[in-house]
Amino acid sequence: AAKAAGRNTLRFYSRELTRAAAERLAYDNALRTALQRGEFTLHFQPVIGLAERRMVAAEVLLRWRSEMIGEVSPAEFIPVAESSGLIVPIGAWVLEHAIAQAARWREAGLPSLRFAVNVSVRQLERGGFDRQVFALLERFGLPPASLELEVTESVLAHQEEQSQILAQLKALRDGGVHIAIDDFGTGYSSLARLQRMPVDRIKIDRAFISGEENGGEHAHAIARAIAAVAGELGLALTAEGIEDAEHARFAQELGCDEVQGWWFGRPMSAEAFERSLRASMAALTGD
Ligand code: C2E
Ligand code: MG
Ligand code: MG
Ligand code: MG
Repeated sequence: AAKAAGRNTLRFYSRELTRAAAERLAYDNALRTALQRGEFTLHFQPVIGLAERRMVAAEVLLRWRSEMIGEVSPAEFIPVAESSGLIVPIGAWVLEHAIAQAARWREAGLPSLRFAVNVSVRQLERGGFDRQVFALLERFGLPPASLELEVTESVLAHQEEQSQILAQLKALRDGGVHIAIDDFGTGYSSLARLQRMPVDRIKIDRAFISGEENGGEHAHAIARAIAAVAGELGLALTAEGIEDAEHARFAQELGCDEVQGWWFGRPMSAEAFERSLRASMAALTGD
């Protein structure tokens, strides 16, 4: 019986593997055609300035509704797109549409915000990314300071080998674009390298705010250490994943200038985001 069970388990695993491989292939194919099919949209999540007590920025988040496989989370498809290299054209699409949308809202007289766009290291590996960004800003007439690029800590991982990546980030920053390190604390953090990076802001990963993944106080201790480093290096600090009043209090205690999370606002479609911007304007002007 044990043997039979073993065989069944094996068969089960191999069936699972086959399914995983098939799913992966279906994914790849679906991703490959998603751009032409127009299956991507951008969502916008409010970022709140604690001193200003209002929305000062928005993070641009990619959404994919595949005709073949339905709604897929970016946490799932971004890594797939990164490993196949598809993130390069997809990332270019995100950048163009984010900048175009930000410029339209600006021209419509809506409150001016900073728009934070996630960028994969793969987009920087080819070179010329900085020129691509400046060309888009010029084409749509958006000031560079209205754009923030979020890169993950992996840009810190191989500083010497990837110096052309740093050169592009430096050119972008010198040109007025903001640079943030996203999900800080989850990757290969090298605090020594951080000091030499062309960076304006650190975003503390939500795992260190909620404390769920690292057992409460340890996670909070890491958050405090990150905040201390940001303070020493003169970097601005965002807390991600603020889901309740307690998280908000902790972010304040850390000295964050900006906060982001469901407690302040979920990611919204462009239409919903524009409606809420207009509503907040009307509230201010009493229209
Ligand atoms: P991220 O850049 O760290 O974005 C924040 C993620 O946290 C988003 O997930 C957002 O919806 C989620 N979030 C915001 N507030 C809360 C909260 O209070 N609680 C919880 N539990 N989650 C919250 P999303 O939209 O699923 O994106 C996941 C990741 O996919 C992003 O993490 C980013 O790494 C990547 N991603 C999304 N769009 C793009 C893109 O255009 N390009 C690239 N390269 N990566 C992207
Ligand atoms: Mg991000
Ligand atoms: Mg993040
Ligand atoms: Mg994250």
